[in-house]
Amino acid sequence: MPAGGGRGLMVAAGSTFRVVDVEGGQVADLFAFTADDVDEYASPSHTRPAIGRLFPRPGQTVLTNLRQPILELVEDNSPGHHDTLYAACDAARYRLLGVDGPHRSCAQNLLESMAALGVGDVAIPQPLNVFMDVRVDADGELTTRPASSAAGDNLVFRALVDCYVVVSSCPMDIIAISSGGITPLAIETER
Ligand SMILES: [Zn+2]
Repeated sequence: MPAGGGRGLMVAAGSTFRVVDVEGGQVADLFAFTADDVDEYASPSHTRPAIGRLFPRPGQTVLTNLRQPILELVEDNSPGHHDTLYAACDAARYRLLGVDGPHRSCAQNLLESMAALGVGDVAIPQPLNVFMDVRVDADGELTTRPASSAAGDNLVFRALVDCYVVVSSCPMDIIAISSGGITPLAIETER
């Protein structure tokens, strides 16, 4: 998908897909909705207590808001820093950051990508922020660091149910969560 844009696809249960940081340093917002009922979707806040971590390791699963497994992380070919604490960027976020006028957002990318799949009126869940490096210190302070992923770094997920998957190349250019500018991502389906 182009820099700052999004793309969605249907992934059949049992199939895998790879999220690739093509040029490196780019945050990818990942969303997944069950095909049977798009009111059920991947939910970091339901996943964290199940795995006892901020982001799954290979072999661990992502749960939905109904606490059902939807994705398994199969491989993590990256430095392994991913965030599950930050909401998707949206128009209000950019307004609060002082942007005057329109600015692309992960929320917009999600809605456009789902509409392209023929699915409208979906929630904007909290995403899995792949390659986004947010650290929590002992006092609970959050620090965002520029993504340290290199060109070609990637994660492989397996769909555990038929689902719609959307990946957004996060267009956030006010806070330095991506490094080296906003760049393209790729999503590759496999078996
Ligand atoms: Zn974003």
